[in-house]
Amino acid sequence: MNVVKPLKSADDLVMAGLVAPADRRALEEVAARYAIALTPDMTRLIDRADPDDPIARQFVPDAAELTILPEERADPIGDHAHSPVEGIVHRYPDRVLLKAVHVCPVYCRFCFRREMVGPQGLGTLDAAAMQAAFDYIRGHEEIWEVILTGGDPLVLSPRRLRDIMEALADIAHVKIVRFHTRVPVVDPDKVDAALVDALKASGKTVYVALHANHVRELTAEARAACARLIDAGIAMVSQSVLLKGVNDDPDVLAALMKAFVEIRVKPYYLHHPDLAPGTGHFRLTIEEGQRIVSQLRGRISGLCQPTYILDIPGGYGKTVVSGSTVQARGDGCYSVSDYRGDEHSYPPAE
Ligand SMILES: *Cc1c(COP(=O)(O)O)cnc(C)c1O
Ligand code: SF4
Repeated sequence: MNVVKPLKSADDLVMAGLVAPADRRALEEVAARYAIALTPDMTRLIDRADPDDPIARQFVPDAAELTILPEERADPIGDHAHSPVEGIVHRYPDRVLLKAVHVCPVYCRFCFRREMVGPQGLGTLDAAAMQAAFDYIRGHEEIWEVILTGGDPLVLSPRRLRDIMEALADIAHVKIVRFHTRVPVVDPDKVDAALVDALKASGKTVYVALHANHVRELTAEARAACARLIDAGIAMVSQSVLLKGVNDDPDVLAALMKAFVEIRVKPYYLHHPDLAPGTGHFRLTIEEGQRIVSQLRGRISGLCQPTYILDIPGGYGKTVVSGSTVQARGDGCYSVSDYRGDEHSYPPAE
C-alpha cells in the first residue's frame, strides 16, 4: 500500500487495515488520553502478516493502555521536580534539558512523557518562554551541555532550529548541544541539507542521540539520513528502550546494536521501561533485563555494548542496572564472573 499521510486516529488505523473495526471503540478511548501518530515510513514498515510485528507494537495503540497500574506515574522520571523555568529541566549540575516542543512525528505507545506530549500536551514554547530558557542557561555558568528533547526537537523547521543554535552559540560556557530524536528513522526525508545545516553552530560540538528499538527501523533511508548528519560533522549515539515483545531477546538486541555501530552510531543507553501510565504490557522485570543484557557481553564487540539504565522514579536521576560481575569476598579478594557466567578469583589464587 502506498501511504502518503500520517495516521492520527483510531479511524485512520481501521482504514489502513492496521486494527480490526471491532477494536475501534476501545482505541478511541485510548486516543482520548494518549496521542496517536504513525508516519508513512513507519506505516509502510509494518509487516501486516506478523501478528507480533515489533514496529506495529511500538506505534499502533492497544486496549491494554487503558489498564493503569498502581505503581505507574504521570511524571515517571520526575521532570517537574527539577524545572526552574518553563521548558528547562535542570537535574544534573552540568547539563539541562531544553524541551522546546511537545509534539512528535510518531507517538510511541510506551512513551515516558506520554502525559506531556501530543496535540493536547504542553505545546511549543513561545518566543518569551524561549528567551527565559536561554536567560536561565546564560545565567548558569555550570551548564556545559544543552540537551534538546521534548517531544522531538527535529520536528521544528530548519529556521527555528537555526534560531535556537544561534542563541546557544552566543553562550560561551555551553560547549555541547545534544538532540534526542526519532526523526532520522521515522521521517528520514526531513533530514535534508537545510536541516543538517541548521544544526551546526560555531564553536559548539553537536551530538544527535537516535532513538530506535529494533533493527528493522534502520532502513536504507534511515541509514542514509544518519550518514548525512555524520558526514556533516555531527556525532551520533543511540538510545533504545528494552521492551517486552519488541526487543527483549539477546539476538534481537545484538542485531540492533551491531547495525548502529555499522552506521557509525555508537550505542549509548538501553533504558529499562519507565513507569508510564498504561505501559505495563511493555515492562519486564529488572532481573529479566539483566539476564538479557548480560548475554550481550562477549557475544558482540565492545563497541556494540549499551549501558543498561534505570531512571529512578521521583526525579533522582539515572542509575546503571547492568548486573555486577564483581563481588568482594571480604578477604581482599574478589569473585569475578566472565561472559559465560564462570567465576574466577581476582587476584588469581595461584
Ligand atoms: C536523562 C537526562 C539527562 C541526560 O543524562 P545523560 O546521562 O547525560 O545522558 C539530563 N537531564 C535530565 C533531567 C535527564 O532526565
Ligand atoms: S519520540 Fe520520544 S517523546 Fe515522542 S512519543 Fe516517542 S518516546 Fe515519547
